[in-house]
Amino acid sequence: MEHQGGCHCGNISLVFRTDVAPERMVPIACQCVFCRKHNVSAVADPQGRLDIRIGNDADFARYRFGLRTADYLICRRCGVYVAAITADAPKRALVIVNCLDSRDRFTTAPMEADYSGETEAERRERRRKGWTPLA
Ligand SMILES: [Zn+2]
Repeated sequence: MEHQGGCHCGNISLVFRTDVAPERMVPIACQCVFCRKHNVSAVADPQGRLDIRIGNDADFARYRFGLRTADYLICRRCGVYVAAITADAPKRALVIVNCLDSRDRFTTAPMEADYSGETEAERRERRRKGWTPLA
């Protein structure tokens, strides 16, 4: 199954491929301050693939904070936060549900998650196991 998506202005486009039906995915609502400000609900599939295409590189920002182990991809033109990508290879990502055209099919209530107690090693391991490989 292929989910198309991206930012609002079209500068960043996404294709999320997964065999898991959207209704069966449990979106994660990370409770960090950044994610709460964006009211984030995000999905990933370690067996899936995420393809991210950037139109104009100058209109694209990678934001880092905290342990600085991931880049938060934000369109500079329209302001939409579309995905997070691990800072180090092999690159893995999670995608913001509301940035997918099929957002309304992700009907399972998001699970709140607080990762603030993780060590850097635990964080990398969780993403290695749970996030989607980049295509
Ligand atoms: Zn945009």
